[in-house]
Amino acid sequence: MIPIPASTGSGHWSRRVSAAVMLLAVLAVYIALAASASYVLVNGEKVSLSQVRTAADCAEVVGISMAPGNLLDVRGAVIKSGGGEAGTVIRDGVSVSPDTVLAPGDVVTVLPGSDLTEPVQEKVELLPCQPVGPDLRPTVWAEGIEAFRGLRRVQRGAISGRVGTIEIAQIRPVVISRQRPTSIKAIALTFDDGPHPTHTPQLLDILAKNNARATFFVLGIYVKRHPDLVRRMLQEGHEVGIHSWAHANYTQLSSAAVAEDIARCQKLIHSVAGDSVLLRWIRPPYGARNATVEQLIEAAGCHVAMWSVDPRDWRRPGSEVIYQRVVGRAHSGAVVLFHDGPANRAGTVNAVRRLVPALQKKGYRLVTMSELFGLVPVFTGEVYLDLGADHIHLMPAAQEMRVIVDGEPIEPAHPLLIGDGQLLLPLEPIVERLGASYEWDQERRVVTISGLRGTLTLYLDSQRAEKDGEQVLLRIPPVLFKDAPRIPLWAVANITGAQVRYNSAEAVLEMSSRLTGTGIEHTIRQGSRDRPSVVGAPLAVPSVE
Ligand code: ZN
Repeated sequence: MIPIPASTGSGHWSRRVSAAVMLLAVLAVYIALAASASYVLVNGEKVSLSQVRTAADCAEVVGISMAPGNLLDVRGAVIKSGGGEAGTVIRDGVSVSPDTVLAPGDVVTVLPGSDLTEPVQEKVELLPCQPVGPDLRPTVWAEGIEAFRGLRRVQRGAISGRVGTIEIAQIRPVVISRQRPTSIKAIALTFDDGPHPTHTPQLLDILAKNNARATFFVLGIYVKRHPDLVRRMLQEGHEVGIHSWAHANYTQLSSAAVAEDIARCQKLIHSVAGDSVLLRWIRPPYGARNATVEQLIEAAGCHVAMWSVDPRDWRRPGSEVIYQRVVGRAHSGAVVLFHDGPANRAGTVNAVRRLVPALQKKGYRLVTMSELFGLVPVFTGEVYLDLGADHIHLMPAAQEMRVIVDGEPIEPAHPLLIGDGQLLLPLEPIVERLGASYEWDQERRVVTISGLRGTLTLYLDSQRAEKDGEQVLLRIPPVLFKDAPRIPLWAVANITGAQVRYNSAEAVLEMSSRLTGTGIEHTIRQGSRDRPSVVGAPLAVPSVE
C-alpha cells in the first residue's frame, strides 16, 4: 500500500496528486485480486482464464486429445476405430461436459481418450479324457485304463468372437469304460486245475491271437510254482478264480478249514499279482458244494462258479470229441469247463485252438466270468485313439481273416486292426514277404519301412510321416497295440508297391508283391494352409485293386 501524505502546502495540485495515487492504489488492489482469481489449475499447471473458457479448452491447452480411443478385440486388434472411450474433463473431482464454462480457481484434470477392450465371455468345459504317454503324446487306450481328464477355460471376445485365452488343466485320472451291450452273445471259457507250465502258455497264446478272454480257476499249489503265469493271465485281460489250495473236497472239510483254505489262496494270489486283483469267483473242487460251502464262499466275498457245458476233457477223449461236444452245446451265456492241468491236456489245447475261432465265427464273444455275469463291462478289445480333434476308433479285425501274400496264406504274428474302416497290419511277417524291410525303434517309437518305392518313416500315434524325407500326413496313424506296431495298409502297399485286394465280406486280404498293378489306390488331396498334403487310403479299404 502506498502511504498517502497527510497534507501538502500546494493545495489544489496536492489534491489531484493524491487522487491519482488513490486511483493507482485501487488499481493495484484490483490487479492483485484479479491475479489470484483469473487462473485455473489444469493437470497441475496454472492457466489463465483468458486462455481457457470451457472444459474442452483445457485439453487443448495441455495438448491432450479428447478424441475417443479404439474398440479393441480380446487380442488387441482394432474392431472399431474411435469406438473406445472419449477423453474426460474432471472439475473439482466431478466429470463435466466439455462445454462447461470454467470459473476462476477451478482445479481441472484432463484425461485423454482411451482404447476399450470388448467384453469377454468365458466358457469352462470338461475335456474328453486324454490318454497321454509319458512323453505327453496322445496314445492308444484300452477300455478300463486310466486317463487324465482336463478342464478347459476359454475366453472369447463377446463382439469379435475371437479366442483370447485358453487355459487347460488336468484334473484327475478317470477310468474309461463303456457299458456292455445288453444283448450280447457271449460264452465264458474256463480252465481248472492249473496253471501248468506247458498248457497254460499255449492256451494264453491262442486266446491272445484271437482276442478272446477266459477265466482260470487256479490251485494254490500251482500258483506258488508258476506265479508268472498268473500275472500273465491278468495282464492279458483274463480273470483268475480260486479252485482251492490243493483240490480238497470242501464238503468234507470243517467250516474253519474251508475258510482258511480260501483265505490262503486269496493271500497267495494277491502276493504274486498285487492286492488290487479282484477275486470274484470260487469254483469248489469237483463242483462239490452244499449250503455251508456256499455261505463260506459268499462270506469270503466271492461267488460260486459252476458251469453249464462240460466236454469231460479231463477224461482225454481226444481233441475232436472235445471240440464237437462244445460246439454242439454252445449257447449264449454258457460257461464251458476245461482243464489246463495238471496232467497232459494236449487234447484240450488242440480243441481250444479250433474252438475259439469257431465260436467267434458263430458270433459268440469269448468273455470272462465277471463279464458274462455283468459284473464288469465287457472288454471288447476296441481301442480309442485321440488325436486332438480327431477321434479314431480301432478294433481288431475279424478273427477269421485270412491274409494271403503271393497266393500263400500267412499267419500274421499279431491280429490286424481296423481303424475307421482302414486296416492296420502288423509288420511281421507281411512286410518282408512283400520284399521290403523294416526297422522298429521301440525307444523312439519309429518304424522305418524300405521297399521298392522308397523309404517311409512312420511315428507311432502320429499322423505325420515322411516318405523319402518329404512330409506326408496320414489319416490313420500307426499305433502300438499289445506291444506290436500296426501300420496302415496303404503305407505298406505304397512303399512295397504291392497290389492289394481286400474282400471284407469274406474277410480275405490278398497282397501281391508282383508289380503288375498300380499299387493300392489312395487319395491325395491338397492340404489346408498349415498342413502338408494328405495321403491316406479311402475311407473303406474294401476291394482296392
Ligand atoms: Zn478241479
